[in-house]
Amino acid sequence: MLKSQTPAPDTETRLPSHLFYLSSLRRPLVDRAEGIYIWTQDGRRFIDGSSGPMVANIGHSNRNVLDAMKRQMDRATFAYRLHFENEPAEDLARELAGKLPEGLDRIFFVSGGSEATESCVKLARQWAVATGQASRWKVITRFPSYHGGTLGALAVTGDDALAETFEPMMQVMPTVPAPAAWRDRDNLSMEQRGVRYADMLEEKILAEGPQSVLAFIMEPVGGAATAALVAPDSYYPRIREICDRYGILLIHDEVMSGAGRTGKFLGGDHFDCKPDIVALSKGLGSGYAPLGALAASMRLVQPLLASGGFQHGHTYAGNPLACAAGLAVLGEMDRLDLIANAAGMGDLLMAELTGLAKRFPFVADVRGKGLLLGAEMVADPDTLRPIAPAKKATQRLLDLAYERGLIIYGRKVKGGVDGDNFMVAPPMIVTAEQIGEIVAIIGDSLQVLAGELDLPVEG
Ligand code: PLP
Repeated sequence: MLKSQTPAPDTETRLPSHLFYLSSLRRPLVDRAEGIYIWTQDGRRFIDGSSGPMVANIGHSNRNVLDAMKRQMDRATFAYRLHFENEPAEDLARELAGKLPEGLDRIFFVSGGSEATESCVKLARQWAVATGQASRWKVITRFPSYHGGTLGALAVTGDDALAETFEPMMQVMPTVPAPAAWRDRDNLSMEQRGVRYADMLEEKILAEGPQSVLAFIMEPVGGAATAALVAPDSYYPRIREICDRYGILLIHDEVMSGAGRTGKFLGGDHFDCKPDIVALSKGLGSGYAPLGALAASMRLVQPLLASGGFQHGHTYAGNPLACAAGLAVLGEMDRLDLIANAAGMGDLLMAELTGLAKRFPFVADVRGKGLLLGAEMVADPDTLRPIAPAKKATQRLLDLAYERGLIIYGRKVKGGVDGDNFMVAPPMIVTAEQIGEIVAIIGDSLQVLAGELDLPVEG
């Protein structure tokens, strides 16, 4: 659903496919995947430099995860959650609760990111109704942002291009600007800008009517819509303070930033701000199974249970096979100390990309946390004038890296942070040597891009 750019596909050499995605053009057929690599059937090897769309956190074909899944397959692959409890779901919920901020210990499983964010919104709404606050239904979101492709998740997504088509079918929610403080040209310090961006939430709440506002949803470390945008530290506690002042729930969408990717279990763990509800997916199943979750405190869940339970759920929720995969993924994260590796390798990658940005000043900002890093490209680093859209800079960069055997992630974003962005987010098992390989390919690709598009190069 998310309109990410992908490398130019191969020319048509196979039978027409019955599948359809963004375009009818064909991608190479995958043969196998291991560690940070993916091989295609025509014998090419790619470095999965973005873990797909930031999914394969623990790397491909992890033997212990595969064995755990096989063991579960031999026992039961499905047992409907309203008929039976299952051990993997119980165990995974307990493990997760142990890794989440204290008190966020009630878990509800789903099968993906959109289901996770939409479930958070529905939980918030049902809590409000159950506690006599039925006037609250608006979920304020940031612009730009991405919280999923189903109509409910899309309604809390700040993206004009997606809204254009589907707006008549959705209850589109109010937005506040994403905190792209690095772009602002004023005399404020970054910390002052952080507070100012947070205060925009308060202004929006007052404009909408505080009693109508249910929740605020944000990614603590931005994902695809903002290429790993991080607000100044001052933003986070101020957001919490404002939500508390007006009785508004804070939802952290950690679908991309969660499950260790940023060098802490949650992206939000880097900041002084505890959410009321958290959405997780992607890295939780790490590509081994479709899996997502929401976590909330008993304070929110109890009124629902008292009023008949959560009026929500999906057939595959809490699926034993998916949960067995998730449990093994968390086990491998601990055993291999992957969160620490994501922090360490993230620092190295950040330093290397920052080095590239010095060589190629059109890379105007490098940002993110751990192994969720992004960079923004502009035509003029002083004025931040964007590269002309007709030049398709992001697409070209992705193609150049792809030709050199590296997959990176990119998306042209409209509004607020409207430069050409790319993201680098390899699996958390990545080594320093592999980081070197990734950075060398990005450097070569930027060099060619600069020549082709006449972008500024140092020296
Ligand atoms: N939330 C965030 C932050 C995401 O990045 C995504 C997907 O990219 C989603 C939600 C939706 O997840 P899914 O594509 O699994 O439905």
